[in-house]
Amino acid sequence: MIVVLRLGHRLGRDSRISTHVGLVARAFGADGIIYSGEKDQKMMESVKKITEEWGGPFEVEYEKNWRRVINNFNGIKIHLTMYGIPVQEKIEDVRKKSNGKDLMIIVGGEKVPGEVYDMVDYNIAITNQPHSEVAALALFLHEYFEGEELERNFEKPRIRVIPQERGKKIKKIKK
Ligand code: SAM
Repeated sequence: MIVVLRLGHRLGRDSRISTHVGLVARAFGADGIIYSGEKDQKMMESVKKITEEWGGPFEVEYEKNWRRVINNFNGIKIHLTMYGIPVQEKIEDVRKKSNGKDLMIIVGGEKVPGEVYDMVDYNIAITNQPHSEVAALALFLHEYFEGEELERNFEKPRIRVIPQERGKKIKKIKK
């Protein structure tokens, strides 16, 4: 089981990027996301709606107390930060240690409290350059799964894409 913890959501300002963190988590192989910061029902509903239409399973939750979420998590905890150790140096170690265990991937928002760095098993950087939680999460999952997430099957979709060279083809799936 892989869960993403998104810290420090701000109503309004972060709505789009937090939605994208959720969509990337789902599309790239995580099993759920926990949002912390300001509760944003509308934003969470938009991620749930995508899961209902395009398939799951993918859980979306809110938890105000992120410290408790991190402390109570029984598994390997990874914080993605530009200040960490480059992913290419650590990913094999993470894969070995997480074998059979649950994984929590923590991404920040505008400001990540310093204590987070000491609460986790790994602080991992996707390059040591500043960019985005969306890109960092996507690339970490891609490295972790070694590309297998690209073949992920989603259960009970109502709709799916029929891939083509050009144009858009969608299939609606009857229940
Ligand atoms: N300066 C902020 C801080 O306090 O760390 C980071 C803000 S950044 C816009 C938001 C989040 O994107 C970070 O908390 C981190 O999870 C992720 N992120 C940005 N660049 C990253 C990188 N190079 N490697 C890993 N994660 C990164």
